[in-house]
Order: sequence, then C-alpha cells, then structure tokens
Amino acid sequence: MRILLGNAMLFDGARFLPGTMDTVIENGIIAAIGKIDRSGKFDVVHDLTGKVLCPGFIDLHCHLRDPGQEWREDLDSGAKAGAAGGFTTLVCMPNTDPPLDTPALVRYILEKSEKCCGSRILPAGCVSKERKGKTLAEMGKMARAGAVIFTDDGSPVSDTGLFRLALQYSTWLGTRIMEHPEEISLTAGAQVNEGICSTFLGLKGWPSSAEASDISRGCSLSRDTGAPVHFTHVSAEDSILVLREGKASGLPVTCDVTPHHLCLTEEEILAAGADSVYKVNPPLRSSRDRDALWEALSDGTVDAIATDHAPYHMDEKDLPFQEASFGIASLECAVAAVLSEWARRGKPCPLERMLSLFTSGPAGILPIEWKDAGKIGGGLSANLTVLDLDLERVVHVEEWKSKARLSPWNGRRLRGWPTMTFVNGRMVHSYEGPIEEVD
Ligand SMILES: [Zn+2]
Repeated sequence: MRILLGNAMLFDGARFLPGTMDTVIENGIIAAIGKIDRSGKFDVVHDLTGKVLCPGFIDLHCHLRDPGQEWREDLDSGAKAGAAGGFTTLVCMPNTDPPLDTPALVRYILEKSEKCCGSRILPAGCVSKERKGKTLAEMGKMARAGAVIFTDDGSPVSDTGLFRLALQYSTWLGTRIMEHPEEISLTAGAQVNEGICSTFLGLKGWPSSAEASDISRGCSLSRDTGAPVHFTHVSAEDSILVLREGKASGLPVTCDVTPHHLCLTEEEILAAGADSVYKVNPPLRSSRDRDALWEALSDGTVDAIATDHAPYHMDEKDLPFQEASFGIASLECAVAAVLSEWARRGKPCPLERMLSLFTSGPAGILPIEWKDAGKIGGGLSANLTVLDLDLERVVHVEEWKSKARLSPWNGRRLRGWPTMTFVNGRMVHSYEGPIEEVD
C-alpha cells in the first residue's frame, strides 16, 4: 500500500518545514518527505493543499472506562472517538473497575485495543494496589507488560511515603508518576471553585491551594529523589507559580492542562444556572487562573494539553449540580476547542507551540521508546494527523463516536479541526471520505 499525502504544510513536531511538502507512506512507514514525482504508482493520493500535516496527536490523560464501566465508554468507542478527534495515541487512566493494577489487566487493554479501529491505546497503571494508597502496585511487572505511566488518577497518591517509594521505582523503570494534584483534606464536599461561584451558588468551595499544595509536595519529593513527576490537569494560577519555580530550579517536573480549563471559567457555571455539564475535578476556575494557564502555555511551563475526557451516562450527569458526577467529555472537539480559544485570544503564542503541546510535548512525558511518537520523519511509523485550520463546524454530541452525550461544547461553533487521522499508515478517521475497516 503506497499513499501520497500531497502539498501539505508540514509540522515535524518542533517546527514547520519551509513551503509545502509531499509525504509518502509505504506499508505503514513514512517512506519519503519532499517534492515527490507524481508519476510514481500510488494506491491512494490525498491532496492536502491548505492543510497542516502533523505527527499524530497524543492524549496523555483520558478515561475509557474499560474494564467495568462500559456503559460510559469502552475501548472501541474510545478508540474511534480519539481518532475522530485527531488523536493517534491515547493513554487511558487506571481508575476502572477493577482498577488497572496488575500486568494481566495491562495486557487486557493492549490486546483488546489492538482489535479496535481508531487511536492506539496505551494503558496507565495504578501506583497503589486497588488505588487505595496503602501498598505499591506491581509497577515493574506492569511496566514490562506495557504500562507507560503510573497514576492513582481520580485521587492523589495521598500517602507521602508511598509516593516517594513509587518515584524511586519509576526512575528505575524509566517511567513517570502522573500525580492528580489534590490535597483532599481541603476538597471534601467541595463542588465548585472557591470564589464567586461558591459565594453565589452557596456550594462548598474548592480552593486553589488544594492543588498548589499537592504540587509543592510533589516538587519537594522530586528534589529529594531526583525523579521526574508529571502533574496532570493543572488548573490554577497558584499551581503555575509553584511549577514555574520548580522548573527554574532545575527540577524534572512537567505538567499538562485541559481544554476545559483553557477555554471555560466558573462564570459559565453561573451563566448556565449551575448546569452540571460544567462540573469537573478540578473545578473550572476564575478568568485570572485561565489567563495564567495561557501564559504558562506560552512560556513553556506547560508541557502538554491532555483532555481528561471523562464520559458519563446521562443518568450520572444530567442531575442537579450537587448530585452529578465530576467530569467533562471532550475527546472529539478538544483540539478544535483549544485552537478556537487560541485564535480568540489573538494567538498568544506561535502555532508551532500549540501543535507541540499535542505532539512532541506529550511524547516527551512517555518512556523513551515513545520519543519518536511526536515527530514526523523518514523511517518512522506513519501516525499522522491532518489539520484544517480554517474549517468551521458546530459540535453535535449526538454524532459523537464517544458514548458521552453531554459536553459544554455541544452546539458551539469551533474553528480548526483535525480532518484525517492515520495510525500506522491506516486511515482511521476522515472527515471527508470513507474509513478503512480493520480486516
Ligand atoms: Zn484526575
């Protein structure tokens, strides 16, 4: 199978190559990049004039609810949703039922997802057995089975001694701990950001110090052990200040931010009359926090954008605010939402920077064998995303591949959409044409 992707603006993971480029995919591998003689024999030719060809987007943090909660999402619907959102690689979180804390469950994810036609799925393993925070899970065996990151996501690693031990193991294994930063003694019963939202709605407030103080703890453990720590879904200005300081002093700490914290604030909750579609952990913050995230994204403090895609069934989400589950589903519109907000804010950083947050940025958080996942180059696997920066579409959740049917972006017009997704040279999503099915 020879595929020609012609006339694209090519982003290689770090920068745009000059002019436009042709890319040849042969048997799943990028065989050539440059000006290609069109008289050669190709099975498929796509003219990508006016579009951007990128390394396949990587989502470091999504909830695919498999095993055990497949009514919310499963590996197949998740893989298809990921592909439709322009992601070639998804890291799925281990707060499933049972929690992903054994090598057998890691293999279950890898084997089942192999049969799905969509994004590649890489499992994250638990830090502690059953995510209970008491004893270390079998990190070594899980890493050998294919777990790419370790996290108790949904909760922090609340026992600091266990966190320290996990960091030491993770360095030996060449993996990272992804910390869900939350000091739970500060968030018990909290529903919304502590500020105008908690005041006006009379709901218990969630202070930003709950996040920043856990990030401080993680930074201090990183300094102590020399181990990298990745902080996920960072939402508050206070947290950014701690991270900026940690990075400036040379700590190997990294972080990601979500599309919803980049695009929405607590004011939306008030404007929508406390609609539970905006209920998320950590909560939507103030506009000042959101501005701080964009500044951190521009100056390099933020390493990746990760969706924290958290699908729920209607029955679990379409409820009064206090009773609804925490979580926002976004996999299929995350890239467009972020690019629309970036444009709305007057493009505060170069497009290269934005694209690196979906490609080389997250690839750099994964174990070393994934470092090429965020690049385009001859000889590399053809995991590619085509982006149409001018395409405008309205989000219709009822058309989603995901099982989620509630999202803050439903009905919103967004600009800048992924239009084709290739995984190992196979087209797994196309906005325009038919998709090859797995044989
Ligand atoms: Zn989390």
